[in-house]
Amino acid sequence: MSSTGLRAVIVGGGIGGVAAAMALTRVHFDVRVYEQARQLTEVGAGVVLAPNSLRLLEGLGLGDEISRWGIRLTDTRLCQADGRVAVHDPDRFSRPGERVGIHRADLLTMLADHLPDGVVLPGHRCVGFTQDDDHAVVSFDNGESVEADVVIGADGIHSTLQGYVVEPSEPVFSGVVAYRGVIPAEQVPSWPAGTMRLWMGDGKHFLVFPVRAGQLLNYVGFVPSDTQMRESWSAPGDPVALATEFAGWDPVIGAIIDAIGTTGFRWGLYDRAPLHRWGQGRLTLLGDAAHPMLPHMGQGVNQAIEDGIALATMLDAVGRSDVPKALAAYETLRRDRTARIQEGSRLNGVSYDASGAVHGGRDRESGGGLQNRRWIYDYDVEAEAAPVAAALRAGG
Ligand SMILES: Cc1cc2nc3c(=O)[nH]c(=O)nc-3n(C[C@H](O)[C@H](O)[C@H](O)COP(=O)(O)OP(=O)(O)OC[C@H]3O[C@@H](n4cnc5c(N)ncnc54)[C@H](O)[C@@H]3O)c2cc1C
Repeated sequence: MSSTGLRAVIVGGGIGGVAAAMALTRVHFDVRVYEQARQLTEVGAGVVLAPNSLRLLEGLGLGDEISRWGIRLTDTRLCQADGRVAVHDPDRFSRPGERVGIHRADLLTMLADHLPDGVVLPGHRCVGFTQDDDHAVVSFDNGESVEADVVIGADGIHSTLQGYVVEPSEPVFSGVVAYRGVIPAEQVPSWPAGTMRLWMGDGKHFLVFPVRAGQLLNYVGFVPSDTQMRESWSAPGDPVALATEFAGWDPVIGAIIDAIGTTGFRWGLYDRAPLHRWGQGRLTLLGDAAHPMLPHMGQGVNQAIEDGIALATMLDAVGRSDVPKALAAYETLRRDRTARIQEGSRLNGVSYDASGAVHGGRDRESGGGLQNRRWIYDYDVEAEAAPVAAALRAGG
């Protein structure tokens, strides 16, 4: 019984899908990633890699490239709207240097560059899925279809494949939109290298951290909105409107918004309640398709990477006929953890945007265990998956 040469079809060439492809290639799966866009693309913004996924990416051989393209965040502070430090407790929030700011496009490119030629197939929008006991078939809008031993829906919050697992439903709008983008760091020369700042005020917060070896500063302004915007649809984020939202806050925020030019964009924030099921037979879900979360714990990408490693570990332990068993084990391992982070991300957003008096926002982050992230950062998905895979291997 061996998984070598089993055919894995991944639908969705975002960071989650491509990271899963790397993990599955490493355990000798015959992998294809089908992406609807004409080429792999990511939004022009940053992401923070936390220790729970950094370890995994280093294990996949990406350590040097992450050091080259990313930047270690050595000083993280939560501030009040006027700039006074509200919390500076690196051990609770994150230890100096244990997280990395990186441009999403840089991360996607470095993952994709490690895949063999021909693994990623752009221009394929998945429109259908069927399966029997023996195999699964995915079909695309260009008329093509492909047979697989396992199918992984990594097709994001508006997942098509999710509709083959649970009743279709709409994502939940959070009432918040994010203005986000990057600016050249040289335009804000006073910004201390390797520094992350999050300013919190009533109903809003503003986040800044460096990416691309410190050459760029990623900014996100979170503001309330009753306008529902499709999450995956990015509208231009008018810097004048953003400046109005944060007028009277710390002048550093003003300097950052002044440097935006016309390059920013706006993004409606959605999530879902945890799904009661991620898979069916030879089909499973991964990343935002399985557990879309608000960005207030900075874990969406990190959890997608954990998913990919867990999935590859389980699938590596079985032969073709036991693929559904491996997928069930993957789901059991992953569902509670990701549900807890989905919930924590909602709570964190409330905390950031609440005045300390009403919701305990700043106080809660500084004093309570609720938002303590050590349980997220110190988790080792490979160690957790190993005994489950061993049981699968032994026929359990
Ligand atoms: C403002 C903001 C800030 C964030 N900051 C962080 C952060 O600091 N850290 C962090 O870890 N996460 C962060 N996130 C979350 C993170 O962006 C997502 O969780 C992550 O990108 C999900 O990756 P994914 O690969 O699962 O899905 P996606 O990135 O959505 O990729 C899905 C892919 O599937 C393709 N696709 C969709 N439908 C089909 C189809 N039918 N056929 C073929 N292809 C299809 C899409 O084109 C896309 O390429 C943030 C999110 C937001 C909105």
